[in-house]
Amino acid sequence: MSKIVIAGGGWAGCAAAVRAAKLGMETVLIEKTDLLLGLGNVGGIMRNNGRFTAAEENIAMGAGELFEITDRLSTHKNVDFPGHRHASLYDTRAIEPEVRRLLQSLGVEIRFMCRAVDVIMDEEGKPAPRIQPAEGDAPRRVKALKLMKANGGHYIEDILRGDVFVETTGSTGPMGNCARHGSGCAMCILRCPAFGPRVSLTAKAGACDLTGERAGGVPGAFSGSCKIDKSTLSKKLQKKLEKDGFAAVPLPEHLVNPGKLSQKVCQQYALPEFAENVIVLDTGCAKLMTPFFNLEQLRTVEGFENAMFSDPYAGGKSNSLRYMAVGERDEFMRARGFENLFLGGEKSGFFVGHTEAITTGSLAGYNAAVTAAGGHLLELPDSLATGDLIKYAQDALTEENALQRRFTFAGGEYFRRMEEKGLYSTDPKKIKKRVKEAGLENIYNKALM
Ligand SMILES: Cc1cc2nc3c(=O)[nH]c(=O)nc-3n(C[C@H](O)[C@H](O)[C@H](O)COP(=O)(O)OP(=O)(O)OC[C@H]3O[C@@H](n4cnc5c(N)ncnc54)[C@H](O)[C@@H]3O)c2cc1C
Repeated sequence: MSKIVIAGGGWAGCAAAVRAAKLGMETVLIEKTDLLLGLGNVGGIMRNNGRFTAAEENIAMGAGELFEITDRLSTHKNVDFPGHRHASLYDTRAIEPEVRRLLQSLGVEIRFMCRAVDVIMDEEGKPAPRIQPAEGDAPRRVKALKLMKANGGHYIEDILRGDVFVETTGSTGPMGNCARHGSGCAMCILRCPAFGPRVSLTAKAGACDLTGERAGGVPGAFSGSCKIDKSTLSKKLQKKLEKDGFAAVPLPEHLVNPGKLSQKVCQQYALPEFAENVIVLDTGCAKLMTPFFNLEQLRTVEGFENAMFSDPYAGGKSNSLRYMAVGERDEFMRARGFENLFLGGEKSGFFVGHTEAITTGSLAGYNAAVTAAGGHLLELPDSLATGDLIKYAQDALTEENALQRRFTFAGGEYFRRMEEKGLYSTDPKKIKKRVKEAGLENIYNKALM
């Protein structure tokens, strides 16, 4: 049996693991923290705008397992809030154990508190060449990952060999980047001080990663929301959130700061309403739709008099920085210049979102398994939103302003494109038919060979 090694257990890594395991591969998922889902533990918004279409395309292609969980654990469905329609909000307090159980039931070996720190290439004993693969070079093969794994209170070195590798380590932090280009470690869910920094495996293998920028060409972009402990909000606000899933509380004029919108990753939320109001969504916690908010000022807003941040803990001051290490890849999600290394999630492009991570991670995991089995790699066609997004984000890298653009089914330039191309639909039957016409119905579950 071939072995697929996946580094990084966020939504993208979990999706890759589901696909590889379901295709009969020995699947090992390594995760530096003690939790799966990474940033998925602090998000929760699904099915808003074009994400509905993308979720249904994935389901029709046979990658419905994770959407089944997010749908089942959504405490609010069909929520409309400024700029967004028909959102589902999953309970961020309940999602991780369910995903963990799914992966375990599929036989995925999950190694927690295990951090990839380097790449060993195919030639025995030789370190990875630290040079960018060039056009015409023979593709490189990864042989193993060097790991630091927890052993009691210490970390020890280990080597993990595999046949095909998937990198889904995300693009957030680590602390040095958050300090240099943000305003310090905000103590986010990735908990670098406790579990060690994210490591870019493509960079370790010699490739040059891309670093996203925010306005003014400053590296990285702030994560776009924080979590407040819901029980610290006024009873009235808690009731409103539990009933409607969302609340918009107008800000006093002196606290309206439209400049903050341009710092955000999530340009789909860079709308005036998000500067003029405090917008909160009920994801089990109260999801505050702004990168950070001075606590003293926040507590002057009605309903927030006793507010306490629960992620990032320093949400009164700052947030994590993302898009620090995006790898280059082809339409099969294979890292450019490598034969057996695939990328998914934020590692694979300037993508924003859980649905986007599941979409790219599923394709990466599927193609990793295909590579191991010696079959034909799958490319998703641009007649589907999922395929179109993957291509569009890739093509955009050669265009103007490439490092400042972000791609999500949920809004901004890509959702506009979905609408213009007629790709946006909320009719599951129509979406299923489109997938069938593309010859991809249940493709992800068809035996390889
Ligand atoms: C505060 C916040 C709120 C958000 N809200 C939403 C939302 O409501 N809806 C939505 O769709 N999107 C939301 N997003 C965006 C979305 O969460 C991300 O785009 C998506 O989840 C990224 O998934 P990923 O798997 O690519 O990366 P990540 O979630 O970053 O996962 C990467 C994983 O790799 C692990 N890792 C890193 N380095 C190593 C290593 N060297 N070895 C082993 N493991 C490693 C990390 O610990 C992590 O678990 C939000 C993001 C943030 C930060």
